[in-house]
Order: sequence, then structure tokens, then C-alpha cells
Amino acid sequence: MTGREILHMGERRLAKAGVPEARINAWYLFAFCFGKVDREGQRHPMERSEFFLREEEEMSDKTCGEYREMLEKRSRRIPLEYLTNETEFMGLPFYVNEHVLIPRQDTECLVEEVLRVSEGKEVLDLCCGSGCIGISLAALGRCKSVMLADISEEALYVSRKNARKNRVSVEIVQSDLFSRIRGTFDIIVSNPPYIPTKDLEQLMPEVRDFEPRLALDGAEDGLLFYRHIIRESHCFLKKGGSLYFEIGYHQGKAVSALMEQAGLTEVRVKKDLAGLDRIVQGTLR
Ligand code: GLN
Repeated sequence: MTGREILHMGERRLAKAGVPEARINAWYLFAFCFGKVDREGQRHPMERSEFFLREEEEMSDKTCGEYREMLEKRSRRIPLEYLTNETEFMGLPFYVNEHVLIPRQDTECLVEEVLRVSEGKEVLDLCCGSGCIGISLAALGRCKSVMLADISEEALYVSRKNARKNRVSVEIVQSDLFSRIRGTFDIIVSNPPYIPTKDLEQLMPEVRDFEPRLALDGAEDGLLFYRHIIRESHCFLKKGGSLYFEIGYHQGKAVSALMEQAGLTEVRVKKDLAGLDRIVQGTLR
């Protein structure tokens, strides 16, 4: 089969399975399978321009078989990023697998917010998952130091891999929230699990069936982790230090109230690019 025939077959396969944005998904998987692998084992997806030059060429049966396998998996709604094991966040490359949440664009707003003030600061990223927040801050934020923590060993393996990939030096700690954290920080940033348990079933199949529950489930009202982190933040923030959260768009009021009740000041809610409440910050005075 030629490149063009294979790509069309892929588009039809995903469309038939009802995968949203079937065409672009078929292309990404095609580009991934038919791209190049360099001497370090790094994959380089095929560029669209190369495809146009080569679309009438016969492609290798072996790679075509791999592509078909990926299409089957994507048809079962396994997220694209878990198939390619990669994504981009803040313009940086991240490895991902099924043990971590796939970094979201919403979370870039949180990082942008922290980047305004991160220079020279000691930063803690709690519930780090893939490490996307802490590693971006370490790469782009001129921080004095960055510590990443998560309860999941599998997630920490991914974080370590991403720290190496982005050549940043960070400290990575296995910890159930603050349980094994020592020291104090200028900035604590967290995107904890925040979906109320009863809402989990309504999520899109990619998220509901394949992303880690541990990273999504915020218990009964979705606020469990915010309560815990806010309550203990006093012991881990320096005076004048700030706590930054990503929140669900309907949680702005509740989380800012929790911060105020705990005595944090200058509590603010900020919006994401879609105009929805997405970040809450507060400062310890
Ligand atoms: N901090 C990670 C992220 O933003 C993981 C978040 C989580 O597991 N809830 O992707």
C-alpha cells in the first residue's frame, strides 16, 4: 500500500470507531510510525511536507502492521499520548505513560502564573505526576531549587525520566502529600486530583477508562486534597511564601474560601485561556 492509502485507511478506521478528531489522530499515529528513529533511539515523527513528497511510495509491511495495531488501540479510546509515549508541555518534551495524567494546556496557565515570580525561589511541586509543572519551572523559571513529590512510585519513575530528558536538576521524593517532605519553600504549587468521585463516570472515555484514577479522584466533593494541602501548608511555606493550585472551573469559590479560613492572604482566583476559573493562589504572611 502507498502512504496515502495507508493514511486513508487509518482515517476511516478511527472515524468508524467514533474517535473524535479521527483525521488528525490518524495522521499523528501515521507520522509517529513512519517517522525516523535516531542513533539515541529518539523518535522523529514524519513531517507533513515529507509525506506530500512520499505519499505515492509503497510503505513497509512491518511498519504498516505497527500502524494498524496503534489504530486498534486508539479505536478502543486509549489516549494518543499513551500510544506515542510523548507530549509537549510549555514547549518542552515530556514522556508519558498510563501511570500519569497527560499534561493539559490548562495547567500551562498555572505554570505561566508561577513563572512570573519564580526567580531565585525554592519551589515544591506536590502531586507531581509526570513532573510537567516542576520540571517546566526548573527549565524556564530560574528557580533556586525545585523539589517534586508524588505518592506513586510509577509516577516518580516518569518524573525522573522527564527531568533527564529536559536536563534539569530537581529533587524527587516519594511522599503522600507532605508526609515525607522536609524543609520550607517560597512557592508550593500543586495540581492535585480534583474531580468529585460521582463525576468520574461522566468524563470522556479516554480519561475515564485510561488515565490514572489516583490522579483524578478528589473524593466526595473533589476538595479533599485542597483541604489537606492548605491545612499543612503553614508548616512548609516560608513567611511571605505562596501556595498555587490548579482547580476545576467550578471550584474557585470553595478553594479560595478554604485558603482564607486557613489564614492565607491575598487570595486570588485566575482564569484559563477559555475564561474559566483555573488557578487559586494565596500567601502566608
Ligand atoms: N501535576 C501533574 C499534572 O499537572 C499531575 C496532576 C495529577 O496527578 N492530578 O499533570
